Amino acid sequence: MTYDPTNVFARILRREIPAQFVHEDEFCVAFRDVSPQAPMHILVVPKRPIQSLADAVPADASLLGHLLLTAAAVAREQGMAEQGSRVVINNGAGAGQSVFHLHVHVMAGRPFRWPPG
Ligand code: AMP
Repeated sequence: MTYDPTNVFARILRREIPAQFVHEDEFCVAFRDVSPQAPMHILVVPKRPIQSLADAVPADASLLGHLLLTAAAVAREQGMAEQGSRVVINNGAGAGQSVFHLHVHVMAGRPFRWPPG
């Protein structure tokens, strides 16, 4: 499967459809999930078009680190550092990925069970 530039996050990155942005830098954006699964549910999305975590390559190493640091920073900025956050990447359709542009879910504000469903 090749990267589909009409996926919803590509369209958000091009500002073709709206989103509630909470962060933007040179490498990524973060915006609120339209169907939040926790009181805080933010998606951290790289600007680089990578379909899935499985499609990332060694040259993406610093970008992947940046996405995780941004996930932590966003949770901190939203006042969730102390109570903790659940950070999730659904990697592939079989794991629940529905939008094929890599993204990191950052959720907080409720208890989280382990293992996740
Ligand atoms: P995943 O299932 O891991 O691919 O996650 C995709 C996420 O994108 C889901 O949590 C959706 O609720 C979210 N989503 C889909 N469309 C939008 C949109 N237009 N704006 C914000 N979040 C969206």
